[in-house]
Amino acid sequence: MIIVLTPQSTDKEANEILSKIERAGLKPLYMPGVERIVLGALGDERKLAGLQLGAHPFVESIKPILTSYKQVSREMQSHDSQVKFGNSSIGGGTFAVIAGPCAIETKQQINLSAKIVKKYGGMGLRGGAFKPRTSPYSFQGLEEEGLKLMKLAAAQNDLPCVSEVTDACHVEMMSRYVDAFQIGARNMQNFGLLKAIGQIDKPVILKRGMSATIEELLLAAEYIFNEGNTNIIICERGIRTFERATRNTLDLGAVAYIKTKSHLPVIVDPSHGTGIRELVSPMARAAAACGADGIIVEVHHDPQTALSDGTQSLDEQGFESLMRGLLPFISAAGKVIAQ
Ligand code: PEP
Ligand code: MN
Repeated sequence: MIIVLTPQSTDKEANEILSKIERAGLKPLYMPGVERIVLGALGDERKLAGLQLGAHPFVESIKPILTSYKQVSREMQSHDSQVKFGNSSIGGGTFAVIAGPCAIETKQQINLSAKIVKKYGGMGLRGGAFKPRTSPYSFQGLEEEGLKLMKLAAAQNDLPCVSEVTDACHVEMMSRYVDAFQIGARNMQNFGLLKAIGQIDKPVILKRGMSATIEELLLAAEYIFNEGNTNIIICERGIRTFERATRNTLDLGAVAYIKTKSHLPVIVDPSHGTGIRELVSPMARAAAACGADGIIVEVHHDPQTALSDGTQSLDEQGFESLMRGLLPFISAAGKVIAQ
C-alpha cells in the first residue's frame, strides 16, 4: 500500500503513521519526496483496515500496489534507479558495456581480456571464478585464486569487476575482490543466496532463470531489495524454449516490459542469450534499441582455446566491431555510453 501525505505533513506526522503501520504488523517504508512524503506499508494489507488511515488528517491518498513485487515496482518509485558500479553507474540515461571472459583461466588470459575491454570502451570487467557447469567434469573455475587475478587485471585497467556467486558462504571472501556480484540463471531462485546478497551493499546483477517468468524474476529481485540491498541490476539472458537453433531465446520483450513495471536498471546478455558469436553484435544493438541500460558480453583474447563458452565469445576484433556498431544505437535510444 502506498500512503501519500499532504504537502503540509512533517516527519513528526510521518513517524506517527509509520509506528501505526508497524504496530499493525506490516513493514513501514519512508520515502521522502520533493513535494510530499510518501509512506509504504508492506505485508498483509487486510491488517491496515482497522487503522482507518484514509481518515487521518495528514493522509492525502492511499493506493494499493497492484503487482506482487512491491519495492522494485514503478508504482513504488516512478523514476529510474541508478546503481553505482565502480566510478560509474548503471541506469538512468547511460548504456553500460560490461565484458570479459566466461571464466578466469590464467593471469595472462584475464589481463589480455581486461585490456581489450578497456581499449574499446567497456566500463566493467566480468569473469567467472565459480562456474556453475552442467557437467561436473567441465572446468569449474579458479575460485579465490581467479578472483585475485581478476582484481589485479581490473585495477591495472581502471575497471570495476563482477563475478558470479554460487554459494552464500563465499559472499564475505568474494567481497574482498569484486565490485559487484552476479547471481546466475541457475541460482535466480536460490532464496538463501538472494537473502545473503540482500544483506550487503555491493551491486548485484541478477540474471533471469532459464525458465523463470518475468514476475518470478522481479520477485527474486524483491527478495534482495527487501533485505536492504537496493543496488540491483536485472539481466535478461534468454530463456529455454522449444527453439533449438540458438542456445536460448533472448526475450527482448521482457526488457521493454520490465522497464515499464520496475524502476531497476535492466541489462542484456546477448552471449548466453544466443550462444552464437555472430549473433552477439546484432542482439547487442537490439538491446540498446529496446531500452536496455547496458549489456554484459563474453570476450576472450583467443576464443578457440577458451575453457568455457568459446563459441559465443568475441575476440578483440569482434569486440571492437560490436562497440563500433553499437554506438549509433545508443545515441538513437537517447543514451550515452557509460564510461
Ligand atoms: C555466465 O555469465 O557465465 C553464466 C553462467 O551465465 P548464466 O547464469 O546466465 O547462464
Ligand atoms: Mn558463460
